[in-house]
This record gives sequence, structure tokens and C-alpha cells, in this order.
Amino acid sequence: MDYSLQCIECGKELNSDEHYVCPFCGGLLEVKISLSEVEVNFRLDGNNLRVWKYASLLPVKSEPVSLNEGGTPLYRTEYIEREAGIKSVFVKHEGLNPSGSFKDRGMTVGVTKALELGKKAVACASTGNTSASMAMYAAKANLKAYVLLPAGKVALGKVAQALMHGARVIGIKGNFDDALALVRKVSEEENFYLLNSVNPFRLEGQKTIAFEIVDELGYVPDRVILPVGNAGNISAIYKGFRELRELGLIESIPKMCGIQAEGANPVFRAFLKSGKDIEAVENPETVATAIRIGNPVNARKALTAIYESKGVAVQVSDSEILEAQKKLASEEGIGVEPASAASIAGLYRMVESGEIEKDERVVCITTGNLLKDPETVIKVCGEPVEVEANIESIKKAL
Ligand SMILES: *Cc1c(COP(=O)(O)O)cnc(C)c1O
Ligand SMILES: [Zn+2]
Repeated sequence: MDYSLQCIECGKELNSDEHYVCPFCGGLLEVKISLSEVEVNFRLDGNNLRVWKYASLLPVKSEPVSLNEGGTPLYRTEYIEREAGIKSVFVKHEGLNPSGSFKDRGMTVGVTKALELGKKAVACASTGNTSASMAMYAAKANLKAYVLLPAGKVALGKVAQALMHGARVIGIKGNFDDALALVRKVSEEENFYLLNSVNPFRLEGQKTIAFEIVDELGYVPDRVILPVGNAGNISAIYKGFRELRELGLIESIPKMCGIQAEGANPVFRAFLKSGKDIEAVENPETVATAIRIGNPVNARKALTAIYESKGVAVQVSDSEILEAQKKLASEEGIGVEPASAASIAGLYRMVESGEIEKDERVVCITTGNLLKDPETVIKVCGEPVEVEANIESIKKAL
């Protein structure tokens, strides 16, 4: 299939896959698929959901490195619908991907591209899930994996995954934004393939979330709500909807709504000023470590997605995030990590502010699994009670 990398700033098209940013102006790159030449060989019939169902819209030429990613469930959340007073609210639980987050959709494409380019090693900076996913796919592809993490600020489950899948994991005394700047330099000097979401091929895999939503629902929702950290996913999903529309497979595009934590809210702040550029937040802080990012690399793409789709950016507090996490788990049976619950917290904020109409059909993306961050869970829920091993003590404790 035909595609090129195109700079979103100066519009120049590149004829090599081996760029992360525009060599002329430093702008972000986007994969431009020649949609008029694509032979779409899938049907949006709700069957066989997985990333590679949509291979005819994915820019790889070789056999994919796959662990059966995608095909995540879309749950109707009746408790939340009732409480929020919204006609339909679905949750797409990306925490049920192979490594427990949506990052797998991007990694299956990104790691396949690493092999196509003849790379021997892949690298990333990570708030956790990128490293877990990259390590897993690198293991499958027999590539070396290098990970830079903000020391002490990554949920335990994610570090465990990266370590066990065999990555070299290095904690740095700095935040995610520092780690990303460093890994970009190191990757260039050591010829590692960089798999952060600045990598345009990773975002191609993530755009399949849009395809699956339409595929599963059989219609285009009015609104898609998701947490925003480095701002790749919202950009990717928007691109997916745009491509479906360009292909004539759908007519409308959902309002793309990005949710940030109050302590890490540069996209929200830019949105308030109708700005196209962000001002970085120096010391981002939030319980939702996956979105604890002060200088999101894809901010310009994300803001374009929000403005063009007539969506919004919203901020929520840590306590709203934790409350939403608990609600999802205890009322709907959906176990997510804190960052993921930001989408539900954002939904409630938008109901309060009157942004959402009662008769809307909404899809919230829950990005990562509950098991990722057991430490926060114990802080919120406390340890289980302990009693003597006899019936009376147990009955008393029931
Ligand atoms: C990576 C991640 C995010 C943020 O996604 P971006 O593409 O960086 O905006 C949100 N939630 C979870 C669980 C993540 O792993
Ligand atoms: Zn450019």
C-alpha cells in the first residue's frame, strides 16, 4: 500500500520511513495513507475485531509482530448512564490488551517497523505502560529493549512487566519529560528505534481504536472521551475517524474530548486560551502516573483533533479520578488504573458543566488495567482485614 510521511507543519513529504520529526522544520510527522488507492478488504460488521483486521490501512509491508492485540470489549455502563443522566455510555476497555494497555496497538506496528528498518534495538521513555508493551513486543521480535523511567514514579506492575520481558530498565532522577528528551538523544547516537508516541507508525496502530468503535457499535458515537498524557492517543483515534470518513465509510466524526489531571494540564490550559501551542507544566504531579506529563510531545496534533472535531479539553482532580476508578470497578465490574478513570471523571465534569447533551451517545476509553497499579489501590481501599482462622471470627468480620 502507498503512504508517505508528511510534516504537519510545513507539509513536506519524506520518502524514507526513518524519521520521527521533520528534518526541515522539526515538526511532527504523520503517516499519509493514499486512501484513493487503498483496497479496503475488511467489513465493519463487528466480527473478528483485532488490530490487523485493518491491515489494509496500516503502513507496513512485512509480516506483523503480533500478540493478538485489539479486539477489546466495549461495555455498556448502565449505572453510569443512570447516574450521569446520559442516553448511552460505553466504555472501551483497552486495559484488556495483551500487556494491559492500548500501547500494544501501537507497539505491534512500531516493532514491526523496527524490523523492516533493520534495527537491532528499540527504546523508549515511559510513564510505565509504553515500556511494558515495548518490552513484550521486543521479546517477541527478538530485539533488544532499552527503557528510561522517572525513578520512583512508575506504577509497580508496569516496571515488573518491563523487567520480566527482558528490557534494560534505567530509572533517571528526573520526570518523564526529561526521560523523553534523553532517550531521543541516546536513540539517535546508538541507532535505537524510538518507540514513544512521537513515532508516527505507533500512532497508526492506535488509530484502530476508532475503527473498532465503529465496527462494534455499528454507528459513529457523538463523543469519544479519553485521558491525555503525551497526547498521542487522542491524535491517533481522531486520525482513524478521519480516514474512515475520507473513505466514505462513515459520515461524521465524534467530538474528541481530552481529559487531563489538574496537576498535569498543559493541553487543557492551551484549550482555555484557544491556543495551538502549550506552555509546559514544570513539575507535573498526579496520582494518575500514566498521564503525569508536563510537556506532551503530540500537543499540536491533539489540539487540532479537539478543535476540528468540536471537542473539548477538560481537567479533573485526583480525587475525582480515584472516585471514578472506584465507581467503574465496584458498580460496573471494570477494573482500570487511575489514568484510565480520568475519562469517566471527565464525563461527569462535562455533565455538570452542561457540555454533554442528555441524548448523546458517548464512548469513554479506559486505557489501562487495574492490575498495573496495585500500590494506589491499597492506598485507596486499605489492606484486607485479618482475623483468626475460625468461623466465629470470620462471621464477625463479614
Ligand atoms: C499512555 C497512557 C495514557 C496517555 O496516552 P497518551 O497517548 O500519552 O496521551 C493514558 N492512560 C494510560 C493507562 C496510558 O498507558
Ligand atoms: Zn516540516
